[in-house]
Amino acid sequence: MNNAQFYYTRPQNEPVYEYRRGTPERIALEEELKRQSGIEVEIPLIIGGKEVRTGNTGKVVMPHDHNHVLATYHKAGEKEVRMAIDAAMKAHLQWAEMSWVERTSITLKVAALVTTKYRALMNASTMLGQSKNAYQAEIEAVCELADFIRFNAHYISEIYNDQPHSEIGNLNRVEYRPLEGFVFAVSPFNFTAIASNLSLAPAALGNTIVWKPSTTSLLSNYYLMQILREAGMPDGVINFIPGSGSMIGDIVLKDKDLGGVHFTGSNGTFNTIWKAVGDNLSNYKSYPRIVGETGGKDFVMVHPSANTDEVATALVRGAFEYQGQKCSAASRAYIPRSLWEELKGKLEHNIGLIKQGDVRDFCNFVNAVIDEKAFDRIMGYIEKAKNTTDAEVIFGGNGDKAIGYFIEPTVILAKDPHFVTMEEEIFGPVLSVYIYEDEDFDKTLELVNSTSPYALTGSIFARERHATIQACQALRYAAGNFYFNDKPTGAVVGQQPFGGSRMSGTNDKAGSYLNLLRWINPRTVKETFTPPTDFRYPFMYEEKCYRPD
Ligand code: NAD
Repeated sequence: MNNAQFYYTRPQNEPVYEYRRGTPERIALEEELKRQSGIEVEIPLIIGGKEVRTGNTGKVVMPHDHNHVLATYHKAGEKEVRMAIDAAMKAHLQWAEMSWVERTSITLKVAALVTTKYRALMNASTMLGQSKNAYQAEIEAVCELADFIRFNAHYISEIYNDQPHSEIGNLNRVEYRPLEGFVFAVSPFNFTAIASNLSLAPAALGNTIVWKPSTTSLLSNYYLMQILREAGMPDGVINFIPGSGSMIGDIVLKDKDLGGVHFTGSNGTFNTIWKAVGDNLSNYKSYPRIVGETGGKDFVMVHPSANTDEVATALVRGAFEYQGQKCSAASRAYIPRSLWEELKGKLEHNIGLIKQGDVRDFCNFVNAVIDEKAFDRIMGYIEKAKNTTDAEVIFGGNGDKAIGYFIEPTVILAKDPHFVTMEEEIFGPVLSVYIYEDEDFDKTLELVNSTSPYALTGSIFARERHATIQACQALRYAAGNFYFNDKPTGAVVGQQPFGGSRMSGTNDKAGSYLNLLRWINPRTVKETFTPPTDFRYPFMYEEKCYRPD
């Protein structure tokens, strides 16, 4: 037995590769893209370590070439959902009792495999299945995924090391048990890293998981399951059940052993989950922990002292990278009239340089939106802007879904600051801009604060420090991640803990110790070395305090 006290020191962030033409990483990635484009994968459910095929199947296609089938997946039915819960419960005791050092070794091996042997595989599957360009895949499907695992190992060390004070006559300790029950991890399509962390963060603390992945990110998510197995993740710790969210949710959320829900996705889904937990409270053994990171309507507030080159770049990157399908995407900007003409010219120039198309052409900055439902929803918002006098589409505005779900980077000039595209999450390559009079900076801050129900990310661009300070105070609750002179996207694990409040979620900061605290159920143990043998207080030791026997 090894009695050493382990401590994982603060890691470095995984370096981001550049994928310039001719580099080894570019050659490996192009080969892997070619290989994955030439095969059709069968994706089973994985329950208790076993592959399960239901015969009720669906297709995984490339969003940028939707006739190209990448995989056929099996959908869970009610029976398989119950099997997954049983498998998670069966694995619970052994996994919870395994030394955390061994558990962490498994997760660290996952990070090592993803960043070396399977770097090209994870990037290519994320690129093809979720329509991301090489850079967008690299920063998250490899780097952020590994960062989540490595930083969590460090934070877990710190949490476990935090022990209470003991007096001379006793010994106190806190045992950081996992939750009593299983965790239901429900992931969105847009980040492979988030899908991984929703399961692996609670698992690293000894929890077992029923994982409902998104149907439109199944290829990368399935490969991740295979990497977990190679890394030595025991059977039943993470059970992978693709299928209908509402059917799976309905069964899982009624289960008496539900210990917690780790969710990232839209508000509507999170509200449904939260309500279902409320409706089932009397069924549960414990109050389930509910952690949800949801939507955003992320703002860029520009002061008249800002640099328009910086603002133009931040808006193009913040709004159009990954087709605006980031919860943190810049989707509303407030520009002072004095800067607008200059900024508009720079935006037009930058947007004119953007190429859009298939992810296998590395020149394309913008690719396709995830599916037809998303395409129709986003185009619906653009149509609203075309058909009103309250707004005007000034750049882009066209979409074509014949081959892939392509929508041009679009900028809407809103004359009404409450026009629908300034308020609602669109989750597509659409930026709405409102021009304010320079002298109305204060009033506009209030507008930014009160326009949308979300509070995820936001930026202030200004050279004048007083303006930055004023914005930071006025927008204190308007964003959980607030940026000075930077785009509101691109949070890095260990550097900018991520999450927002109001309708953007429970703000439990994925990738930080704050999130990990939600997946433990601490038990305090006190040992008294010489227990007292007389119940009376010392001042009762006088003769008169004695009752005659
Ligand atoms: P979504 O809500 O449509 O789906 C998320 C997951 O929930 C999917 O796996 C889906 O199948 C499942 N689901 C649907 N109904 C369910 C139910 N009744 N019970 C249980 N599960 C159910 O979201 P999406 O389109 O995949 O992702 C986009 C959304 O996610 C956007 O709103 C975006 O802002 C948000 N998001 C937020 C963050 C963040 O950190 N705040 C990060 C990424 C994405």
